[in-house]
Amino acid sequence: MQVAVIGTGRVGLVTCLTLANLGHEVVGSDVDEDKIDGLRRGTAPFFEPDLEEAMVRELGTGRLSFTTDASEAITPAEVIVVCVGTPARADGDANLLAVETAVREIARFARDGAVVVEKSTVPAGTAERVRQLLSRGGDGRQVHVASNPEFLREGMALHDSLHPDRVVIGTTSDEARATLDRLYAPMIESGIRFIYTGVETAELAKHASNAFLATKISFVNSLARLCERIGADVTDVADVMGADPRIGRAFLDAGLGYGGYCLPKDVAALERSATRVGYRFGLLNEVQRVNDEAVEAVAATVEDAVWNLEGKRIALFGLAFKPLTDDVRSSPALALARRLLAHGAEVVGYDPKAADEARVELPELRIAGTLLEAATGAHCVVVATAWDEILETDLVTLRDAMTHPVLVDGRNALPPDRLHEAGFWYYPVGRAPVAPRHPILVSER
Ligand code: NAD
Repeated sequence: MQVAVIGTGRVGLVTCLTLANLGHEVVGSDVDEDKIDGLRRGTAPFFEPDLEEAMVRELGTGRLSFTTDASEAITPAEVIVVCVGTPARADGDANLLAVETAVREIARFARDGAVVVEKSTVPAGTAERVRQLLSRGGDGRQVHVASNPEFLREGMALHDSLHPDRVVIGTTSDEARATLDRLYAPMIESGIRFIYTGVETAELAKHASNAFLATKISFVNSLARLCERIGADVTDVADVMGADPRIGRAFLDAGLGYGGYCLPKDVAALERSATRVGYRFGLLNEVQRVNDEAVEAVAATVEDAVWNLEGKRIALFGLAFKPLTDDVRSSPALALARRLLAHGAEVVGYDPKAADEARVELPELRIAGTLLEAATGAHCVVVATAWDEILETDLVTLRDAMTHPVLVDGRNALPPDRLHEAGFWYYPVGRAPVAPRHPILVSER
């Protein structure tokens, strides 16, 4: 099938690769000329495991191409997949301007019978607006609309897109459903679970999924605050809870809280769209408050551990919002950096992949080229993103590079007994701090 993908960002590019892999002729279109130039040369505009290899492979088949000219992608397409960004407005509402712009182009160029697939995450009711906009052409062309939300995880994007745990198709149009069944035929045949719903249900299901994941994280972070006060261990509490299959262990890790492009804006957008239709979804306000509190709590631990922040060097390990991505959008690590800088600390960050992105996002943050360079002379190391390189670092070498052997683990990612053995003062989240087995006196450098 001829497919157009509008927006070749983190979701759009991966969608291009997956649909080309399924055997379709895919044209990815984007307004960002540099991005398209790079894509044509086989260069990915962001880091994601296995992505460039997949690009080289699919470009080599001749089934995948890129353009800045939307008409070139849209005109021949049977299916037009909208993957543009839907960032948050200042009040939390989803900003749908890019969606509207893309749909205006589709209204101009789409052929009769084409299916517009809404893959961007949007509030329930958006597809109806899309349908209205498309029907205003009045030239007799019929363009169908379906919602097909994306559930991929950054860091696992290609894998998740090729092997999704569910595919949701929301549409009331029989033509759209038949077309999408053909689009995804190999996946349907391979037994992947397809769930067919109404359009608003599909839209809401995506926001609900992300809001629920965020709720789990904020729930366990509230428990962490409680554990710190009563002397319980939040990791053990989470293990006990997670052993119940009705609850599940995933997303019950206490720490700096959720971040990234999706969870923060999707929780806010769901709360705003509920308010818009007259329902006060107060739970979601609390989820957001607790998430902000999670960064504050780690900042307070750092301050407590080093006494006064002014003049102290803090090494921040990990800047991306999670491992295996270079995405720093709404990264809790950067929120923590801002907070520590505002209180007079000297913060030196390190990230194996996200240094360039972090420099753009927070120019006042110093960034080191290696983990040890960041740690040298530090009064405290904070683990903000649980990259393997950080978890596997040699603790004795790290300790010897620092002014004071103090480590605040904002992800509860390191084993306390190893820190104890290596001579650290170790401060996890929602668990008892650990003193070194043999306190090592380090002379002030
Ligand atoms: P992104 O910022 O990486 O990519 C968006 C792309 O759209 C950019 O390349 C931008 O230049 C392009 N664009 C903007 N306006 C355009 C237009 N009018 N025509 C053509 N291109 C245009 O964003 P993303 O992370 O890929 O997210 C896209 C959507 O997918 C969002 O709604 C997001 O919530 C959703 N989503 C994201 C993820 C994720 O993990 N990033 C997961 C699931 C769903």
